Amino acid sequence: MEDTLIELRNLVKIYDTGAVKVLGLNQINLKIKRGEFVAIMGQSGSGKSTLMNILGCLDKPSLGNYFLDGEDVAAMDPNTLNKVRNQKIGFVFQSFNLISRMSALKNVEIPMIYAHKKSPAARRERAAMLLEKVGLSGRIHHQPNEMSGGQRQRVAMGRAIVRRPKVFLMDEPLSNLDAKLRAQMRVEIAKLHKSLETTIIYVTHDQTEAMTLGTRIVVLKDGYIQQVDTPENLYDTPCNKFVAGFIGSPQMNMIDAECTEEGGAVKLSFAGNTITLNEKKAAALKDKGYIGKTVTLGIRPEDLHDEEEYLANHAQSVISAEIRVYEMLGAETLLYFDIAD
Ligand code: ADP
Ligand code: MG
Repeated sequence: MEDTLIELRNLVKIYDTGAVKVLGLNQINLKIKRGEFVAIMGQSGSGKSTLMNILGCLDKPSLGNYFLDGEDVAAMDPNTLNKVRNQKIGFVFQSFNLISRMSALKNVEIPMIYAHKKSPAARRERAAMLLEKVGLSGRIHHQPNEMSGGQRQRVAMGRAIVRRPKVFLMDEPLSNLDAKLRAQMRVEIAKLHKSLETTIIYVTHDQTEAMTLGTRIVVLKDGYIQQVDTPENLYDTPCNKFVAGFIGSPQMNMIDAECTEEGGAVKLSFAGNTITLNEKKAAALKDKGYIGKTVTLGIRPEDLHDEEEYLANHAQSVISAEIRVYEMLGAETLLYFDIAD
């Protein structure tokens, strides 16, 4: 079996609303392998839902190609498209779309009833097994209105799993839950991904969800992909200032600085402070011709140190500032200070 499950090639989506044309997505190139957990992040209006609707075959791209499981979706007739959507794609949305007067068991059975494949006893057995898998074995006869938000979300997942889709599309599935439940469900989803060994594409604006669940993260802005990478690479080597500022909480500090070279060492100066860069960063700036120019110095809060020994060992990179505000959060304390505005 081919390794790639989904491929988008030069995909463009333009909404033609008559008076104006709105760009939903532009020049999207993306390959997703079987078994990946891809998190999609971006601000409101960046194109996340547009992308999910296309991936779910609910909407068509204006230009470019979408290959699902090796087949070009644009070339499918409506019947085939319907079949592909039902068999290969499992949707989980923030509104659970459960039937309120039916038991959890019945809700999970429904897709099997539509598929006419199994005997009633076999259907019940499989539905009960799946509800056990999502941790609801004691509640299979409860109705959605007798359940908590988290339990309802699990029933919705059981129902999405039942058809064994090739890919799960989850559009902010936890955004209606409170913080504690979200954290629990996040762990449940991670377990589910492991046990089902399936492909999941997951839209979220929650960084923790994206960083902890995603094997890769897609960062969208204004319909363009900014970066597609592992959580580690996204955090450590963001490809531009947008990604650098978007990932990480509290945010990366960014300061405009003059880049100079003095006796082989590359230095950055800002507001009366000068720091000397390590060899790797110095070489990168030299190679790219930044000596003599203004650059943006980005530094994550946890990379600032105040331990005496550290300061003594990095005497060329010490700056001083007056702390304006302390925020004690328990496990960590945030310090606010001003440097170069
Ligand atoms: P997100 O889900 O990231 O918030 P969307 O995919 O919903 O973003 O929207 C991306 C862009 O496309 C936005 O500018 C939005 O206004 C526009 N858009 C989305 N759906 C439609 C539509 N049906 N008609 C016109 N414009 C739309
Ligand atoms: Mg959306």
